[in-house]
Formats: sequence, C-alpha cells, structure tokens
Amino acid sequence: MDADDRTFETLAVTAGEEPFRTGSEAGDAVSPLHLASTFALPGLDTEMSLEDVDPDAGEFVYSRLSNPTRHALETRLAALEGGEYAMAFSSGTAAIFTAILSVVEPGDHLVAFDDLYAGTRRMLEDVFAARLDVDVTFVDATDTAAVERAVTDETAFVWMETPTNPRLDLCDVAAIAEIADRADATFGVDNTFASSYFQRPLELGADVVAHSTTKYLNGHSDSVGGAVVTSDDALADELQFLQQVGVGDMLAPFDSYLVLRGLKTLHMRMRQHERNATAIAEFLEGHEKVSDVYYPGLESHPQHDLAREQMDGFGGILSFELEGDIDDAAAFLEALEEFTLAVSVGGVESLIELPAGMTHEPLPKAEREELGITDTLVRVSAGVEGTADLLADLERGFDAIEQRSAAVADDD
Ligand SMILES: *Cc1c(COP(=O)(O)O)cnc(C)c1O
Repeated sequence: MDADDRTFETLAVTAGEEPFRTGSEAGDAVSPLHLASTFALPGLDTEMSLEDVDPDAGEFVYSRLSNPTRHALETRLAALEGGEYAMAFSSGTAAIFTAILSVVEPGDHLVAFDDLYAGTRRMLEDVFAARLDVDVTFVDATDTAAVERAVTDETAFVWMETPTNPRLDLCDVAAIAEIADRADATFGVDNTFASSYFQRPLELGADVVAHSTTKYLNGHSDSVGGAVVTSDDALADELQFLQQVGVGDMLAPFDSYLVLRGLKTLHMRMRQHERNATAIAEFLEGHEKVSDVYYPGLESHPQHDLAREQMDGFGGILSFELEGDIDDAAAFLEALEEFTLAVSVGGVESLIELPAGMTHEPLPKAEREELGITDTLVRVSAGVEGTADLLADLERGFDAIEQRSAAVADDD
C-alpha cells in the first residue's frame, strides 16, 4: 500500500472504496456488501499459494481469509490511522487479544497501564497472566518514570491506552515509545477514546494500534467490531496469520459495510462530539453540585499540555464528580431525558453512566477506589445533538437532586 497523503477528510470518504477497486464492471460508487463465503476461481493454478492471493488486485478465495467488503474497510482503517496494514475483527476485545497474542509467549513480561478499559485489564489478569503464564505488571502510566522503572530487558510488550476510561488520564505516547524501543519491546496503544481523527499513535512511535470500532469509528451504536493497525511487516504477517488461521476472528461483511459507511463522517462527528463535550465540561466546571470535572480540553486538566501536544482534539468523553451520595447520583441520572443511561461511548447519541455500578462494577471496590472511581463519578459520552438541549437536560438532573434533598429534609 503506498502512503496516501490526501487529507483525512478525503480518505475518510473514499479510501478503499474508489469505484475501480470494487472489481465490479458497473463501478459502484459505494462498496457493495459481499456476503459470499467463497469465490469462484479463474482456473486451477497448481502453482498458486494462498499467500500470493492479492486482495488489492481484487483476488479473493475464502471470506475468513479476506472478503472484498472487509478489505475495503481495512484499507480505509489503515489510511486513517496512518498505517500500512489493518485487520478488522469481530470486537475490540478480539482485536486487542490478537494484537497481544501476536507478540507475547508464555514466560514473557508485559507492562500495562493500571487504568485500562476494564475488560482489557481482566483479559490481562485472567487470560494472559492466569492461563498463559505471562508476567503482567500494571503501572500508573501518567507518570512516565514509573513506566521506565517497570520496563526491563525482559519486557516483550507494553500496552497503553490514552485517554483512559473513565477518568480521562493521559500517558505520553512518544516518551513511552522510546522506553519500549530501548528495551526492544513492542508498544501497542488502544486508540478507541480519541479515534484516528484526534490521535494517531503510530506517528508518535507506537508499533501497533487497536480500536473498538464499536465506538467512534462506526459511531452509530449499531455494530460491535474491532481493528488492529500497524506498519511493521513482521508484526502484520503474524497478525494476519492469527486472524485468518490461528484464531479465525474477523468482522462480518455487513458490519464491515456499516463501519465503512460510518467512517465517511468520522471527522464531522468528532468535531461536533468535541464541541458538545467542551460545552458540557465548562458548564459542569462552574456548577456548585460538581466537585471535579475530568476532560483533557479543560485547562484545569493536569495533562492539558500533553493533550495539546499529542492529540489533534480532546474528544467527546468526560467524567465528573457529583456532590452527594450514590442516591443523589441515581436521582440525577434517572431524571435525564436526552442522555440515555447506557454503557458504551462514541455513538451519535449522548450516553451517560455510573462507572462504579455499571462499566467498572466487575472490578473489586478497592481496585476501583485506587483508580479514582467513586460511587458518584459520572461518565458522559457527548453525542452530536444540539448543545442547548444537552445542557438543559443536565439542569433537569441537578433539579432532581435539589428536589430529593428537599424531600429528605422534610422527612427529618
Ligand atoms: C469498548 C472498548 C473496548 C472493547 O471493545 P468491544 O468492541 O466492546 O469488544 C476496548 N477498549 C476500549 C477503550 C473500549 O472503549
């Protein structure tokens, strides 16, 4: 794949989907949904090896190996992330699992951010450490020196995520890339929260990037999927082997079609997500019922300068600490009409949740508290609706807390 230096916006709309690439005489303007599990071959070529099959030249054999719709998506994902190779998986979890498995072996050492997506943390503890004998060290990666201390010559893999969920902490991707490089360790970053539009870790020195396409890349809360992107030839070979043969995990054609379609508006959606998140964060920061707001775009964020350096925008996710107890938080959440009470992030509709009782409930309470996840920490995924409606809805939530306090006072 040649490097394509057209703008992000143009690549989002067309990469992988130029009419001539669909292989169709009619030259469909959008990539057709190829549901076929197998493809009629032009003839019997006894010299042909499966490794020589070239999807870029319109050659396909069997859809577990490659499929035209998935291939179109993979071409676009690589272009947007600034990588050479991309693979689309059936979930972000499968993408992350395969990315890590492509490098680590039993006995290897792996260093990871202690504040990872809860499912990834459980995967590292309960699958890689407990079953595959990988030595896993979790560090507070907001402190680059702590990463430096944890990484040794024995370290095979460093796995980071930035910004993190739900506290929106950052780690310094370029600095950690150097640390991993010195130790000859592979460095992977989960780029789900920022999306390829606001952050490209490969350009900052990461070796491999993973996404849950379920979130911003698809963007419409109607598909579960994942992606891995890299420019490293050897890593790509291993990843392709695992995806196609070792694990057999890939995104189905219909979901590939949906993500390909969702990506066309990624840049426009991200700008509106950010506009709304910024307005909400500023509104909450000035509110007497809120003690803290966590959003990298706020100057009060301890890593605001790092965010400015390594990101092209601050994203659409924020969290905040409500004054009160868990019942106040429940009253707030239940009063909302525009925000949907739901886990997940990155869709066009605004979502809200209480991490301690929802996404991070599987973590033991002590572990949650260590990560700053209190019972009144609320996470917001700002959608692309009108800003005024979202702010009015939050007012509704604060009114509900007022009414609850008044009712409790009356009872006394
Ligand atoms: C959702 C998410 C995942 C897991 O992705 P699935 O598509 O749900 O398997 C991993 N990392 C982050 C940061 C996520 O938000």
